[in-house]
Amino acid sequence: MKTREKGAENKETLPTMEKDMAQTFTELPPKSKCSRCRGRARIGLPAHNARFCPDCYLQFFANAVRRGLKRMRIPREEPLLVAVSGGKDSLAVWDILSELGYATHGLHINLGIEGFSEASREAVASHARAGGLSWSEYSLEQEFGYSLPRINKRFRSKICSVCGRLKRQYLNRFAIRENCHSVVTGHNLDDEAGRLLGNLLGNRPEFVRKQSPYLPAPHPLIPAKLKPLYRLEISEIRIYCELRGINPAEANCPLSQGATSHTFKDALNMVEQRMPGTKRQFLFSHIRSRKEEIEKGADFGECRYCGHPAYEDVCGVCSLRAQMEKG
Ligand code: AMP
Ligand code: ZN
Repeated sequence: MKTREKGAENKETLPTMEKDMAQTFTELPPKSKCSRCRGRARIGLPAHNARFCPDCYLQFFANAVRRGLKRMRIPREEPLLVAVSGGKDSLAVWDILSELGYATHGLHINLGIEGFSEASREAVASHARAGGLSWSEYSLEQEFGYSLPRINKRFRSKICSVCGRLKRQYLNRFAIRENCHSVVTGHNLDDEAGRLLGNLLGNRPEFVRKQSPYLPAPHPLIPAKLKPLYRLEISEIRIYCELRGINPAEANCPLSQGATSHTFKDALNMVEQRMPGTKRQFLFSHIRSRKEEIEKGADFGECRYCGHPAYEDVCGVCSLRAQMEKG
């Protein structure tokens, strides 16, 4: 299998990576054996009660993604559009999907945040160069009329939710423009479990019901949404990136400080530390109990300004633009 070959390549470079690896990997006694091959284990995963050597770790990672993809209906006739921010999650999902043999096309939205956006773009560009991957870039300012720092001046404390809304809307539109009907994002287990906790605590049953690692396309102009990393934790993705030599942009968005989503993730990690495996049980039991609800195309109207499918009279993009114009 391809992943294994690349893992073998990486194995040769492992000694030079040991210093970095020690920061992420659970310290294991030198005699620890890999749960799969009985070779020397280097990576301990308490939530799985397992220990892996680097090669078997890559197999474990690929299997978790395969398992996640199994229930998703993935078109083979067109590439999967991978939304790449330049962070570790989206570069990892782009990498593993290509390794598993899927045709992909990356899509990066430049948010226009000084310093942060240049570094994010460069991480995407260099990953694409190294792997010979195709990608496109769109500028929020060009499409929407305002960069994120300008939008921040208007929305301040709500900036993360406004940015999330704009990214979702534009990913839909750009995907269709690129002739892709399935959008992949790098959301991981921590993102999804944190969001579920937030929605449950906020008593938002309509969002809880909709939360799923796979949402089929509800309309010909709105693509399906896939989150193939939902079975993997942030720390597991970090290890994957280190083993594969992926170099993500490290900085957090300077506008997202104090976002509530961090608090829910922290709370779950506190429980996880005392009871390993709780986070995944929490998310997976929700996913198992969730009935697949396909939103029907008939519920959509058209935005009276831009003609894009919308539930309301005006779509999310046009209503935000109107609020910006009002000042
Ligand atoms: P976030 O909401 O920033 O945690 O990002 C979640 C996912 O959305 C990432 O893993 C990416 O797949 C996608 N994403 C976030 N920001 C961008 C961006 N600027 N361009 C393209 N995709 C993005
Ligand atoms: Zn509109």
